[in-house]
Amino acid sequence: EKITNKIAAGEVIERPASVVKELVENSIDADAKAITIEIKNAGKTYIRITDDGIGIYRDDIELAFERHATSKISSDRDIYNLNSLGFRGEALASIASVSNVEIITKTKDDEFGIRAEFRNGKIVYKNEVGCPVGTTIIIKDLFYNTPVRYKFLKSDATETNYISILVNKLALSHPEISFRYIINNKNIFTTPGNKDIYSAILSIYDKEIAKNLIEIYNKKDDVKLRGYISNINYSRGNRQMQSIFVNGRYIKSKIITKAIDEAYKTLLPLNKYPACFLYLDINPNMIDVNIHPAKTEIRFHNEEFIKNFISNTIKEKLLNTNL
Ligand code: ADP
Ligand code: MG
Repeated sequence: EKITNKIAAGEVIERPASVVKELVENSIDADAKAITIEIKNAGKTYIRITDDGIGIYRDDIELAFERHATSKISSDRDIYNLNSLGFRGEALASIASVSNVEIITKTKDDEFGIRAEFRNGKIVYKNEVGCPVGTTIIIKDLFYNTPVRYKFLKSDATETNYISILVNKLALSHPEISFRYIINNKNIFTTPGNKDIYSAILSIYDKEIAKNLIEIYNKKDDVKLRGYISNINYSRGNRQMQSIFVNGRYIKSKIITKAIDEAYKTLLPLNKYPACFLYLDINPNMIDVNIHPAKTEIRFHNEEFIKNFISNTIKEKLLNTNL
């Protein structure tokens, strides 16, 4: 099977949150230590991502906006590597075909940066500019030329919420990166970027959560679990406060949510969900990653083991904590 077939599902930019996801993942891949995400009008009119990563060489800018122009895929195996976020080489091309794009970028080897503009996927402006090392990409008027897709967008509140959920998860999956999130000129949060999960959680969520979190840690064979769970005084009516990261990447897993439910089942009513920030490190040979670009679902080879390991770790901690 060829790499191109596996990734043929194609990049579809469905909504503002998809743009944010692709651009932030590029910033992470570029070794950024600080990433700013700014949106206006739910990202429909304005999305800005600024990073202090490695930047793009001036001669590579047009190339970066061409389809399948990835600089990242080196072997078939990379597709399965959870740590390589970008592997399709289509995001910038797709985004530029449905919006107006401005990019400002500079590498450490260049004295000046470059500012460029794209319309309908084609470069229409390119010139030198003074700027720090890193990349800023501004997306304006998403779907201005694809009215059908624009019409499918939900209300500003809903689209903003999609972006916020995503930004929270990205910030939590990279506590070593400082994330700053701005909505309509208002600062929402800045994480410290100091590697500490706890301080990242505190800067993202309400202060109430601080006194209700319990740290957990356990290790068995090739599997390591760390993170924070909430005591029974803190819960929600949905799972939005439950985040699961496997090998540093945010994922969804029915097995793991089952494990959480199981651990709390005698402590919380059925419709109440505790906050859980679980970080699982596992040998990549023990998981299958669904390689469809839009999906974040993974499968564990030994589901029972994973479920029991997580459930028992949480249960034991809850038993030994003064709730
Ligand atoms: P992919 O991430 O799959 O390689 P993209 O279309 O998302 O494809 O990006 C194309 C290329 O542009 C990347 O491979 C990378 O070389 C470059 N690039 C994109 N964003 C950034 C960034 N923020 N910093 C540095 N390089 C970037
Ligand atoms: Mg990418």
